[in-house]
Amino acid sequence: MKDKLVMIIGCGIAGPALAIALKRAGINSAIYEEHDGPYDFGLLSLTPNTFNALDILDVSARVLENGFEVDGVNFYSSDGKMTGRVGSTAEMKKRYGSGSFMIKRMQLNKILCDKAESQGIKIEWGKKLKNIENSENEKIMAHFEDGTKAESDLLIGCDGIHSVTHTIVMPDFPKPTYTGTVLVGGIIEDTMQTSLAPDTYHMTIGKNLHFGNFVEKSGEKLWWIYVPFPENSIKNKPKESWDKWMKKILALTLDDHQTVKKSIEMTKETLLYLPIYNIPHLSTWHKGSVCLMGDAAHAISPHAGQGATMAIEDSIVLAKCLRDIQDTKKAFASFEQIRKKRIEKVVKIAQQLGDIFTMTNPVKKWFRNKVTIPLFIKRGLKPGDWIYSYKVDWDEKIK
Ligand SMILES: Cc1cc2nc3c(=O)[nH]c(=O)nc-3n(C[C@H](O)[C@H](O)[C@H](O)COP(=O)(O)OP(=O)(O)OC[C@H]3O[C@@H](n4cnc5c(N)ncnc54)[C@H](O)[C@@H]3O)c2cc1C
Repeated sequence: MKDKLVMIIGCGIAGPALAIALKRAGINSAIYEEHDGPYDFGLLSLTPNTFNALDILDVSARVLENGFEVDGVNFYSSDGKMTGRVGSTAEMKKRYGSGSFMIKRMQLNKILCDKAESQGIKIEWGKKLKNIENSENEKIMAHFEDGTKAESDLLIGCDGIHSVTHTIVMPDFPKPTYTGTVLVGGIIEDTMQTSLAPDTYHMTIGKNLHFGNFVEKSGEKLWWIYVPFPENSIKNKPKESWDKWMKKILALTLDDHQTVKKSIEMTKETLLYLPIYNIPHLSTWHKGSVCLMGDAAHAISPHAGQGATMAIEDSIVLAKCLRDIQDTKKAFASFEQIRKKRIEKVVKIAQQLGDIFTMTNPVKKWFRNKVTIPLFIKRGLKPGDWIYSYKVDWDEKIK
């Protein structure tokens, strides 16, 4: 494998993480990304298993410097009464050795890109994959929208939830499905007075919607909410009709406590407008010399806060498989076999959390508020042990 070149499509989270892991395994790669450079979109939460994986890529220290700690989640009922608290930093550190963090997605992307480039990995920006074909000598030829092309031995689709690689290589396989919910968020005016503790997630299980607040140590205040929205209207972004959106969200949060309403009313900048998609189970992640990973293979709805982490874990396992197994198809099959069970468990949990937080049936909501959420708080971190304590052993050989 060491004399082969791997082409990586997409330079989000999975793409540069894979390139770094491959380099550590002694395998060369080049990345092709449709954007002209790193681009902004929201925040990512990082958990102890993220750092176990980032340690192998040797970027944990920079991520810690650029992120901010999250000291647990405080839950509130719609009248503002605090109903419980889960996952303080002290508890996380005691259980898993590190706490939870948040980082701007663009920051994480830049850290990974810097690391890749410092190791001589080429990132070609402004290259949107259009087609893939087998060229002579069993190589792969990728064609880009700008008319250029590139050749390699293997191609890995790290091109996210609406993966073009997936569409080209597996056209009959299921496409992402819209969950019926858009995540909307904003930055609050500095003048808003608040007693919310900094560096803590504040989650209100509102009368209709699930609402989040976060106050950064720097003083920046954020909010976000999951809003049900019909699929045929999701292109109607708040930047084009923000007033209409604000009225809709305010109407849905009318009976919730003051901080919810004040946060929305005092929005100085909209930060997020993200329709949420899932990728249903794909029967396989690879075909011939092409493999999918990260969101392209298994998009996870954001309720578990694990999508980026799963992409980083994938990158390490795939690099190990390509390092230890000479036959490409067998290496891809091993990668899928090692990762699929864990990923599908996380996908299921994220879907269950999404259903809990976005349910509309009044009887189900009553049961959720009285039974499900209190039980969730009471059980604390323990049910998440298998997610947060996961660690790939880089030195262990894959057979
Ligand atoms: C609202 C929301 C909140 C989230 N919150 C969290 C969180 O808190 N924690 C967490 O771990 N995860 C979170 N996630 C999930 C996380 O963002 C993704 O799982 C993660 O970004 C997946 O990484 P990826 O590299 O597979 O895909 P992406 O990050 O989407 O990167 C794909 C890249 O491929 C490029 N690309 C696409 N098509 C082409 C093409 N044809 N040619 C070339 N390049 C192409 C794209 O421009 C992009 O740069 C959230 C997701 C959403 C939607």
